[in-house]
Amino acid sequence: MARNWSIPIGRLFGVEIRVHLTFVFLLAFVWMAESAMKGNSTPGRVLALVGVIFGCVVLHELGHALAARREGMQAKAIVLLPIGGITLVDETQAQAAPDAATWKRDIKIALAGPLVNIAIAVVLGTVLLARFPEAHLWTKPFIHSNHLLRSLVWSNLYLGLFNLLPAYPMDGGRVLRALFSRRMDGAQATSRAISIAHALATLMVVVGMLLLLPGGHPDSYWLVILGCFLLIGAQVEERSAIFRKVLETVHLEDVMLTDFKTLSPADTLEDALEKAVHTLQDDFPVVRGTDMVGIISKANILQALRMEGNGYVQSVMNRFFEASARTDSLAAAFRKLNSRKLSIIPVVEDQHLVGIVTLQNLMHSMALLAESRKLRREALDS
Ligand SMILES: [Zn+2]
Repeated sequence: MARNWSIPIGRLFGVEIRVHLTFVFLLAFVWMAESAMKGNSTPGRVLALVGVIFGCVVLHELGHALAARREGMQAKAIVLLPIGGITLVDETQAQAAPDAATWKRDIKIALAGPLVNIAIAVVLGTVLLARFPEAHLWTKPFIHSNHLLRSLVWSNLYLGLFNLLPAYPMDGGRVLRALFSRRMDGAQATSRAISIAHALATLMVVVGMLLLLPGGHPDSYWLVILGCFLLIGAQVEERSAIFRKVLETVHLEDVMLTDFKTLSPADTLEDALEKAVHTLQDDFPVVRGTDMVGIISKANILQALRMEGNGYVQSVMNRFFEASARTDSLAAAFRKLNSRKLSIIPVVEDQHLVGIVTLQNLMHSMALLAESRKLRREALDS
């Protein structure tokens, strides 16, 4: 979701930077909120204010990115949202072997973002108080398009503090998760951090709504909005945690195709095409007797027929393939498919071909498995 609702704006330190469309909502929201107050804000100033908030988020993420780089990690993309950023790592490669120092590294990277904001707020705030009393640092509204300098200080402070909330995937929640991971495995630590995030977010929404009642605090709608953001974040993380769990715990024998067509190296390409027409399969193991000797795809067959006319499967097939065992995990299969640009993995037992796994087949079964686990868990919970 984060990816689809965002537009790329460039690259920084090799990481793709994307802006989430919620920044447009922020623009509209600030404009409406300020028009409702009697102030004399102009579209240009509102744009500048949103620019200030945007700048704070960029600096925050830069803090994370530089800390991550110092620790030898590389993110794939950063999506900038008004409340912070989301760093996307490649799910299929996020299986780095856990070691004792991982939790320290995670804490350093998580804290780097909020610390940048808080440092800016403190330094700039001190300078304003000492040298520019006309900025009225302590006058409300703290964030307003007519007071950009004051807004810069407070935006940084709010952003830093909000991200320190112990609600995964906020930075504070990441610290919490890292601390948990000293005592339990990564998946357990994540799920515990997500439960805490759920509880905290729900509490914020409920308290915020209660405060909105007559006699309460009218500004508490902020609490509700932020609580909703946290709930969404926790939900997204929960889904990807299920996805990772499936990757780690499901074996190839659970998802491999056992009903598939094979070709013989002695088949002519026209025969092969004839067989290929009657199946949805795109890639075929080439088998001699009981030995697997190569792989060939529909596209290979067609191309060879077009370029060189009829010939034998033997001369077109790819002899370089890599077999897996029944008990290999999906994560391992994904890594193999990705790193070697393969489209099919034969599953072998005692030299015998017992099944095949294709990329399309994997994506499909993943979705099914995740869904069935969720259903099973919901059945257990109720
Ligand atoms: Zn952050």
